[in-house]
Amino acid sequence: MAGVRFEDLSKTYPGRGGADPVEVIRKLNLTINNGEFLVLVGPSGCGKSTLLRLLAGLDNPTSGEIRIGSRPISSVPPARRDVAMVFQSYALYPHLTVRDNLSFGLRRSQAKSIFQRIQDQVFLSTRALPKSLRVRSVREEQIEARVNTVARSLELTELLDRRPKELSGGQKQRVALGRAMARNPEVFLMDEPLSNLDAKLRTTTRQRIVELQRDLGTTTVYVTHDQVEAMTMGDRIAVLNKGRLQQLGKPMELYRWPSNIFVAQFIGSPAMGLLPVIVGPNATLILGRKRIQVEGEMVEPLLQREGQHLTAGLRPEHWHLAPATNRNLQAEVSHCERLGNEQILTCRLLDDDQIIHARTSAEININAGDAINLDPEPTGWRLFDTDGEAIR
Ligand code: ADP
Ligand code: MG
Repeated sequence: MAGVRFEDLSKTYPGRGGADPVEVIRKLNLTINNGEFLVLVGPSGCGKSTLLRLLAGLDNPTSGEIRIGSRPISSVPPARRDVAMVFQSYALYPHLTVRDNLSFGLRRSQAKSIFQRIQDQVFLSTRALPKSLRVRSVREEQIEARVNTVARSLELTELLDRRPKELSGGQKQRVALGRAMARNPEVFLMDEPLSNLDAKLRTTTRQRIVELQRDLGTTTVYVTHDQVEAMTMGDRIAVLNKGRLQQLGKPMELYRWPSNIFVAQFIGSPAMGLLPVIVGPNATLILGRKRIQVEGEMVEPLLQREGQHLTAGLRPEHWHLAPATNRNLQAEVSHCERLGNEQILTCRLLDDDQIIHARTSAEININAGDAINLDPEPTGWRLFDTDGEAIR
């Protein structure tokens, strides 16, 4: 097994019909540790698939290098890179059974002598016969054992003799995963493998992929635009926007301390609310006519920034419903989304006419049009400068 390293990697596509060239990956530096599950997340079009394609060898970088382990792979052909890729569309062979789809990569992975080929062929044509009549092939038996192990771990054993058209979407995706696993590659690449599944199946398959990866310990790069998958699946998350790495870190690090406004808005649902503020004296934020006290880790940096214009961010769970006082903020509820276990209020703050989301208990009876008061959690504030970079 091996880690993966992108070094100053860039990819530019030439512009079509006189258009400017498209810079898809820009000077990317990123190290994925051996055995790590890295989630690569970002909006549609930010270069996620391009990065996987460069790693798999389906496309070549404009400049920079990629290493698997210590080995630079620019000049290594795709088939010899020892990576296995799972796509959003399952890309199974329709005419092959599940068993043969699973073993396809294994059969192709080693060069064979004519004798070996004949032996394998005879084995395959006799494998449906009773045991005493089968012709043996050590290689085919190894493949069969591997396929059976993979099928068991993905609960595909009952389906081995079916063809793809006889499978549900979730089953097909499990076969696609199994085919990648069966080869036991150095690196797994998964490009939005769950986006064709319905919500329930997505949740269960998500857990299964995480468990499998933990059991196998294979270095994995998992691409998604879904921030729930990003938060729940990876050891670390890399956030990509417009071909640039925005932040790399553990899920909760990114959630608690986003390094810029883009990450703050991208990770977490509903998104962090953002308010234009002026820094007041003694670590306060001035919002319209209100002065809000900040506590905790942001106090120190605020004391040095009195008078500056900043963007202040607060997560939905850090707005608390409160009785009307001088301290807290008046708001009008414009929408109320009841989720059963909680409700998400969309509110307009009267002090500065900004829209924010607040997460509240499902038990409280609130309706659109209600006037409420919101008390911001003093330790919850995150602050960003005029370039959108986080202040720490
Ligand atoms: P993502 O997977 O993050 O949605 P992609 O990596 O597929 O994004 O694409 C990133 C950008 O590169 C997009 O703007 C896309 O239009 C462009 N792109 C991808 N492939 C090509 C290509 N072969 N030629 C020109 N532009 C491309
Ligand atoms: Mg993509």
